[in-house]
Amino acid sequence: MQAGLHIDLNAIRANWRALDLAPETGAVVKADAYGLGLDRVARALAQAGVRSFFVAQVEEGVALREALGNGPEIYVFSGLMCASDAVHFRSNALIPCLNSLPQASDYRSNMAGHPFALQYDTGMNRLGLEAADLAHLPDLGTPRLILSHLACADMPDHPQTLRQLSAFTAMAPQGRRSLSATGGIGLGPDYHFDITRPGIGLYGGAPFDAARPVVTLRLPVIQTRDVAIGESVGYGATWIAKRPSRIATISSGYADGLIRAIGGGGASLWCEDTPCPLAGRVSMDLIGVDVTDLDHDPQSLDILGPHQGIDALGKAAGTIGYEILTSLGARYERHYIG
Ligand SMILES: *Cc1c(COP(=O)(O)O)cnc(C)c1O
Repeated sequence: MQAGLHIDLNAIRANWRALDLAPETGAVVKADAYGLGLDRVARALAQAGVRSFFVAQVEEGVALREALGNGPEIYVFSGLMCASDAVHFRSNALIPCLNSLPQASDYRSNMAGHPFALQYDTGMNRLGLEAADLAHLPDLGTPRLILSHLACADMPDHPQTLRQLSAFTAMAPQGRRSLSATGGIGLGPDYHFDITRPGIGLYGGAPFDAARPVVTLRLPVIQTRDVAIGESVGYGATWIAKRPSRIATISSGYADGLIRAIGGGGASLWCEDTPCPLAGRVSMDLIGVDVTDLDHDPQSLDILGPHQGIDALGKAAGTIGYEILTSLGARYERHYIG
């Protein structure tokens, strides 16, 4: 048996429909659809009705166009990073988000007339044109979209969110506009503008609290052994049996994206409804699990599923669901449902 990442496309589509509160709702499928497989995920979303997709890099845009064919709009957040990319934007009908005056100038020299978007930095200081740049922006025609990104949308009371909203409406008083990712959608209609850009919420993660879980990660057990009181398990001998124990060794580790930090935070693996705590440190390809409480030796155990989602596992590891999801390595066989 091979380790299997089970991806529920019906849940992804349901999450998109639940987040579809703005005049238009797009979908962010950067980083291989957050590690879940660009082709299948994007095609499922297109079936559900998504007409605008967002990726981080031009290469991702090229792969996405291949998967979707003509029709949907594809925006590339990083924009026109070098003039030689213009050919890829043109031949795949990709829309660059222009982020700086040099990008705008490269666009004008190499791509004039091709659809483009403008990305504004409204206070995150990460990506986009600043207010002072706008006076120097050459006339490029009408942008297909003007977007910006919120730094603190998952902290509803953070004062920066309102400041960014004001900055955005001041910099972009009109036009087709987009401000919100998953977190901003939950802040209400003032933040929706013409189109929203959810990513993590589609894949079952916070800050979309009502998200349907999307992934189950089932890991095969290689062998199971008895461990006596006082014996240890794993590197550094950090886990010591306090009772006669049954230890299963599963075939997965940090080389598969199950970062070592999950060992420190009380994560469990699950056999149906029974939690089985991690025993000892996560190795490169192996993890020890305390299965003493089961009445049988399991053939496999779930590390992601209904009882422990990406956010719970992220919390155990001192990180966020986004990082858990995008870390899951290419070693897993992906099974799609729906
Ligand atoms: C990643 C990203 C998104 C999606 O964010 P989520 O929090 O995953 O919904 C939207 N817009 C931009 C600019 C991004 O970089």
